Amino acid sequence: MTSGDKLFGRLLGRSSVQALNPPARIPDAGLHLHLDHQGHVVQVSNALRQQLAQHPTGDTRPLLRDMLHAGSALSIEGIPADWQRHSLDLDFHGADGNVLHSRGWVEPEGEGWLLRLLDISDLLTGRESARQREQSHQLACQMSEQLRVCSLTRLPQVFNEHLNSLAQRWRIPCVALALLDQQDQGWVVYSQYNAHDAPQLWQPGQRLGTSLDSLNGNTPLGLNVIQGLREHPRLHGLFADVDGFLVPYRDSQGVAAWLLCGLYQGQPGVSDRDWLNLTAALAAPLLDRLREQRHHQQLERLEALQGLLGTGWWELLPGCDEIHLAPQLMRSLSMEDAPNKQLLGDWLELIHPSDRQELNSRFQDLQNLGKPLLSNVRLQRQDTHQNPIWYRVQGQVLGAGDNRRWIGFMLDVSDVKNQQLQAAAAHARLDNLIASSPAVIYVQRYVNGALHPTFFSDSLLPLLGWTLAECIHVTAVEWIHPQDRDTYFERTRTLLREGSVRSRYRMRDKQGHYHWLLDEAKLLRDDLGLPVEAVGLWLDVTEATLAAQHVKESEERYRILVEDSPAMICRYRPDLTLTFGNTPLANYLECTPEQLAGVNLGQWLSDEQRSAFVKRISQLSPEFPVSTAEINLQLPGREHAWWVWSDRGVFDEQGQLQEIQAVGRDNTEVRRSQQQLTQSAKMATLGEMATGLAHEINQPLNVMRMAIANVLKRLSNGDVQEDYLTDKLQRIDAQVQRAARVVDHMRVFGRRSEVEQQPFDPAQAVEGTVSLLGEGLRGKGVDLRITAADFSVQVKGHADQLEQVLINLVVNARDALLGKREKNRDFQPWIALHCEHDSRHMRIWVEDNAGGIDARLLERIFEPFFTTKPIGVGTGLGLSVSYGIVQNMGGWLSVANGEQGARFCVELPVVGEG
Ligand code: ADP
Repeated sequence: MTSGDKLFGRLLGRSSVQALNPPARIPDAGLHLHLDHQGHVVQVSNALRQQLAQHPTGDTRPLLRDMLHAGSALSIEGIPADWQRHSLDLDFHGADGNVLHSRGWVEPEGEGWLLRLLDISDLLTGRESARQREQSHQLACQMSEQLRVCSLTRLPQVFNEHLNSLAQRWRIPCVALALLDQQDQGWVVYSQYNAHDAPQLWQPGQRLGTSLDSLNGNTPLGLNVIQGLREHPRLHGLFADVDGFLVPYRDSQGVAAWLLCGLYQGQPGVSDRDWLNLTAALAAPLLDRLREQRHHQQLERLEALQGLLGTGWWELLPGCDEIHLAPQLMRSLSMEDAPNKQLLGDWLELIHPSDRQELNSRFQDLQNLGKPLLSNVRLQRQDTHQNPIWYRVQGQVLGAGDNRRWIGFMLDVSDVKNQQLQAAAAHARLDNLIASSPAVIYVQRYVNGALHPTFFSDSLLPLLGWTLAECIHVTAVEWIHPQDRDTYFERTRTLLREGSVRSRYRMRDKQGHYHWLLDEAKLLRDDLGLPVEAVGLWLDVTEATLAAQHVKESEERYRILVEDSPAMICRYRPDLTLTFGNTPLANYLECTPEQLAGVNLGQWLSDEQRSAFVKRISQLSPEFPVSTAEINLQLPGREHAWWVWSDRGVFDEQGQLQEIQAVGRDNTEVRRSQQQLTQSAKMATLGEMATGLAHEINQPLNVMRMAIANVLKRLSNGDVQEDYLTDKLQRIDAQVQRAARVVDHMRVFGRRSEVEQQPFDPAQAVEGTVSLLGEGLRGKGVDLRITAADFSVQVKGHADQLEQVLINLVVNARDALLGKREKNRDFQPWIALHCEHDSRHMRIWVEDNAGGIDARLLERIFEPFFTTKPIGVGTGLGLSVSYGIVQNMGGWLSVANGEQGARFCVELPVVGEG
């Protein structure tokens, strides 16, 4: 027994080291059995006698055979004399149920035989353990072998089977192999087995942490087989508090695997070394195969990567000027069929001539000077129209001296390269564009919270006259208009805070002129979100800004004008709904300007006024957008109001009326005074007519007086016939009616005109005039020639006012005629009243033969108070009032000198029937 074995015994914690050691050789060692000739045991002597279960006594002499185990009992047949010269191996029933293994021989002694025996238990135990070691060695070899040859896919299964047979062979209830995980350096259960009646302590793939590392190398020789876990509290968790047994496997790196045995204490007769060997037999091939698998996978990944990237390695072969290329590279160069070792010169033929020489010289530098190679080259292509194929060739020296190798790779960078070229072209175009753009593009660099200009596009010079160099040394603030500097500071703060900004400020150019600039800037940030630079754009908006300012100012002026204007100003839609009205208008309508929007103007107009208003508005057109009229309204709290109203239509592109802008002036007072004037003029006319009227009334009175006198005369003569009387009375009645008509008409004429104009037949006015003046004129010897109107048209206004006009004209003519006759008694005065009309107008001509009006006075006779008549006779109002009346009716009063005298014309618009 070696000292190593003794050590194992101690490590295994065997209770009795003594039991494994050979017994001390003492003279009376062994066992002496004295036999009779039949084989009965007569006496037992020497040291081992105590170990026997059975001893002969005085009465009983047991047969030797009966003291033996069945197996060895068979090995002795017959009687002791037959056993001479044989070596006998006998197993006795020992004390306490043990077996006493012994070897010996018989020799004659006195009357009987002496059987001399020695204890051979140790010898047998040694043999048994050798056998077991042999077995476990065989098993280990078998396992190793199978693990090495099985396919990688079956490896886990084969391994588990071996774990299984190991467990069964050494009766281990739970067993697992833990491997060191490459990634997190902890331990992981690779495979596990548990007997069907044992708990499953571990799962395959279970992570065990690093607690096993605490055992690493803590026992002499590094053979730290751990039996029982009492001294290792850290491992209790690992074994779920059951007893356990741990065997490490070490490789050059240290412990690489642990065999974990749960609910297990070890096996007598199996040494630590056996366990270590067994574990090594399992773990070593497994780890090799796993490493092989990883290597294989890595290789596959590398190949796939090379294939995907269109890349591959190359190696320059020493001494022979040859290059060795990876199969993937050959494929991506479409050279599958060529040998993958080629002469460098041949291979360089693949490269485009313009890059070939450079690459060759770089290969030389790599080989001769060890200078790392990096070059982008194009491949030689048949079809020159296609985009070139670009490869990046990179290489380096590995090793030194004679072991030097020159290795590198080639990578297809066509995509990147072509994109680079396109980007460069696009960049050039963009540069061009930026330079020719009317806007200035600038870049400001962010340094510690401040922005410093680093770039301006070339358009800066034409715009502001500054060059980039001048800009970089001056802060932009110095050029900003002093009033806009706050805006500029705020712009920078906003830009830094929010990432983009748009602002407008004035900047001084080299000549000292200020430009309005529209500044739009954006802040660019790096991956961490920190500001890097601001990119912005200046647009010269001076003209637009000034124009906008002017518009604003003029808008303001107009607003003030509209607001403060005493005139009524409003806007309304074609349906007369107001959209805006100023304060004066609101005041008239007794509301606030705000309340005006949405109100309909028509509500203050009579039906007739409204329809006339709408009709007038509908006649507006883009060519004739303006119309002016006097409108009559019924305003709240007032009887009537007259507004002089001027409308201007606003049209869309199709010529549709969208809106009307109107300016109005209250004309009520003027209207009133005009009315009063007309009235007083009318009264004056009446007064002037008094003589004529007296005559007018006198005439029937005279007729009546004569008729009455005649009747009275006849009555006094008694010569009164009924017919005569009737005739006279009828004549008197006719004269009464005639006088009554004149008086009636005077009353009507003297009345105030109606407020609103009415359509009427102008013939009425002609008749009225004649009825009032006809007799008087005749009485004065003036011939009144009437060209009776054979038509019936309507004009709009007041019949009494038109009559007033005609009376004025006739009375003026009469005065002129009488004046002329005073100088010439033979003069035959006449006044002609003549009517005519066309589709749109009717005209009444009043002509006399009084010689006309002095040409110098013609322009003045319509002026108020212009008269040539003596004071107290003429008022000078007749023609001016008449002019106003005709104008009010939409007509025109004019005068010209005719052949014999003045010729007045009253022209009036004809209105539709009704
Ligand atoms: P008045 O009759 O009170 O003078 P008018 O305004 O009616 O005032 O007339 C103004 C002037 O025009 C008259 O004074 C007269 O000189 C002149 N006039 C008007 N009608 C005639 C006429 N038919 N012939 C000549 N002169 C006339």
